[in-house]
Amino acid sequence: MATVVLVVIGLAHLAYGLAIDSVPDEYFWFTVFGSSFREAREYVSSYRYSDAFRLVSWLLLACLAAYWLWSRATVLHGHWRWFGWISLLVWLVWLTNAATKGDGAADAIRFLTLSKVERTYPSMFIRSYLRYRESSASMFVIPPVPEPARPSIADVVVLIIGESASAQRWSLLGYQGNPTNAALSPWREGIVALPVQTNGNNTARAVPVLLTGRQPEFAEGVLTYLDKAAKAGFTGVTLSNQTRFDIGDSFIFTAFSQRSAQFHQLQPGAQWDEALTPLLARALDSTPVSEKLMLTVYTYGSHPDVKDRYPPAAAQWPDAYDNSIAYTSRLLAEWIARLARMDDRRAVLIYISDHGLAFPACGGSYVHGSTRSAYEVPLMLWSNARFRADNVAWWAQWQERAQQAVAADGTLQFTNLLVPFALDDLLGMAPASKLPAAPMLAVASQPLLYPPPTDTRQCEPFTPYDVTKALQQNY
Ligand SMILES: [Zn+2]
Repeated sequence: MATVVLVVIGLAHLAYGLAIDSVPDEYFWFTVFGSSFREAREYVSSYRYSDAFRLVSWLLLACLAAYWLWSRATVLHGHWRWFGWISLLVWLVWLTNAATKGDGAADAIRFLTLSKVERTYPSMFIRSYLRYRESSASMFVIPPVPEPARPSIADVVVLIIGESASAQRWSLLGYQGNPTNAALSPWREGIVALPVQTNGNNTARAVPVLLTGRQPEFAEGVLTYLDKAAKAGFTGVTLSNQTRFDIGDSFIFTAFSQRSAQFHQLQPGAQWDEALTPLLARALDSTPVSEKLMLTVYTYGSHPDVKDRYPPAAAQWPDAYDNSIAYTSRLLAEWIARLARMDDRRAVLIYISDHGLAFPACGGSYVHGSTRSAYEVPLMLWSNARFRADNVAWWAQWQERAQQAVAADGTLQFTNLLVPFALDDLLGMAPASKLPAAPMLAVASQPLLYPPPTDTRQCEPFTPYDVTKALQQNY
């Protein structure tokens, strides 16, 4: 019995480790309880063959070991019995010692969850599951929201959360393979774009950072930009084409559905992102001039089976990933066109992808990973003429910031925390601009909450970023 449990836990541990390059933490459980059956199937089909081979080899060995233990089990009842009793005694002494060393309940919990051996794989699962349970209980708690520090500087704020798009494939940022952002070039006058480092190489990690501006600690409840927007007098509308979280509560969906005045969830993964367009149009059209709007659009982007994320007509090139990014650009251009008509209001659109992907040269296909391309995401701001006229200095800062986004050695200077900071500014929640003014790069490059592994690989030859591209005629 115990061996079966160990084999199953070990297998899940290894599978997650190989796919995400991380030991299972509470985000493992968010992913497990958060993914629909359909998405799980796509994950499995995008799994690397080499990793699958390693998994199967491990499983075979583990099963052999379990079988060997079973066949020898009688040994423990024979004259080897003393060996079993001694090891049991050693464990008991050690556990009692661990439990009595400190005080009270906290230690009892630590004792039960074997914190002293938390780095061994079975207890890691128990610990992370307990943390997940704790998180899901307190994620509904909204702490007191501070009063706005000053009037908002925009009337309509649209945040588009992308999925699995890497900055390394944005032609707007220098990629020369295919013109993946060509659809956006008519809007270049109002666009600022830069590559940033993301906090976390998977959705469950990166999106909570965008929502809260930090690594959420659930104990005292969590404050998100949606709560701040409501406090600042904005109507919160959230549209989502991400897979619906049926089985468990995940922070991301709990936050979006609980904290938005209106929340629309499309049929999970069944439609392309263009299904969001009529919903977006309705949200914009039904907002009177006197009302402020915080609209969040959570796209399905390029996730996880890239070729299924765009209609067949959008397959322009052999590379499915480039096609999906071009498709997203086309939708962004359409949505900007709708926003641009609201010239009686100050309108801003922010696009950021949650994380990128590992490219085929490194991952075998387009998969989650810990390559540079998985950690470098595109951040784009567009604003209408009225907003720019009203906020000349703020906008100029962004243009300057974009020029500083890539250091001489090619490393990125900013993280995705720029987004929650920008939202604080736009909503009027920050007393002074929370955004680092140039050239305060030290402030800007907030330490990563989830730093990439030190051996982050650059597998695919890639053209260095060119942040001046956005100003040019075509990209
Ligand atoms: Zn994601």
